[in-house]
Amino acid sequence: MVLTAIPSPPEERRLALVPAAVERLVKLGHEVRLPQGYGAPLHVGDEAWAAAGATVVAEADARARADVALVVTPPAPKVLEGLAPGTFVVGFLDPFFSLPTVKALADGGLRGMCVELMPRTTYAQKMDALSSQASLAGYVAVVLAAQRIDKVLPMMSTPAGTIAPARAFVLGVGVAGLQAIATAKRLGARVDAYDTRPVVAEQVKSLGARFVEFDLGGEQGQTDQGYAQALTDEQLERQRAQMAKVVAQSDIIITTAQVFGRPAPRLLDAAAISGMKPGSVVVDLAAATGGNVEGTVAGEEVVTDNGVRILGLHPLPASVARDASQVYAANLTYLIEHAWVDGALRPTSEDDIVDAVLLTDDGAVRHDAVRARLEASA
Ligand code: NAD
Repeated sequence: MVLTAIPSPPEERRLALVPAAVERLVKLGHEVRLPQGYGAPLHVGDEAWAAAGATVVAEADARARADVALVVTPPAPKVLEGLAPGTFVVGFLDPFFSLPTVKALADGGLRGMCVELMPRTTYAQKMDALSSQASLAGYVAVVLAAQRIDKVLPMMSTPAGTIAPARAFVLGVGVAGLQAIATAKRLGARVDAYDTRPVVAEQVKSLGARFVEFDLGGEQGQTDQGYAQALTDEQLERQRAQMAKVVAQSDIIITTAQVFGRPAPRLLDAAAISGMKPGSVVVDLAAATGGNVEGTVAGEEVVTDNGVRILGLHPLPASVARDASQVYAANLTYLIEHAWVDGALRPTSEDDIVDAVLLTDDGAVRHDAVRARLEASA
């Protein structure tokens, strides 16, 4: 097959391929054609791609002959125009929120393979780009908070007195939350964490953090994919009320709560933020899907009247783009290696992974919930 990669918009420094991934794809018998300057965000020169076995060509050329185009972010509909019908577009496609891209894929006869729809199974772990990027996001969130906050994270005993450790509260303990807990612990903070899925309590404790328990009433748990079930408005209200004390005593709050396919749940309202100490920092990892925090501005850093800094910067993995690209490119390479056998895509009827990730085919959207969202928006 002929593979290419579509350059990301300027604010996104991650790449869908790195030279090591190109080498692997070439060894598997694929041809890789990359547009000139593709590696510029990471200072990977055209000669490095050529050395890895790719051909570097003009951008339009790279697209025109591609069977597979790899992306980091959902390509704008205009970008898709240069691809021939039948081409596979593989990567983050943001299926529930980037509806114009989903529509353009279907209308253009393109076959979107959406990594957000990857089954969260042990076998699929090496292809799981949500996990590889979320883990880095959790790390970056704590590093950003540590830079912004006006105190140190570890306890320090000095001749002039003891400095208390910073208190961090991690809300949402999926992949990003676990890495945030581990990073905050490594830096010496005292860490509390909460998730609506009680199953994560043990994982929190094993990282040396405290799992705080709240009584939200009614059902709360997870889907068979491990995603959180959405809370009712009443449960969310109870959660906000019961969290107030922990929130007020926290110096750093990292929120990562997501409910798959829906806007992020609102966990902290303005009253909770106004109860925090001046100089505290909140990093809202759900900024791109509406935010967990009232006052979050996606892509920005704001300071409230009471001196609390709220970071809605995203995507955080882009700030560690070298590592993020390495693991993302590996995820895509493993997916290609799995999904195609002797140049033919495994049939959806025979393969759970291809069935799950193939978002558009034959001019239609295959995923029921995404199709319903698209129809509702028409
Ligand atoms: P996610 O990004 O969908 O959500 C982040 C966290 O927010 C989740 O833990 C969720 O329970 C939590 N959350 C939702 N509403 C909340 C609320 N109101 N208050 C507090 N927390 C709330 O999660 P993710 O990191 O993508 O992980 C999703 C699931 O997939 C998890 O069960 C994870 O263990 C599982 N997973 C499995 C594998 C694997 O087996 N290969 C790999 C990765 C993830």
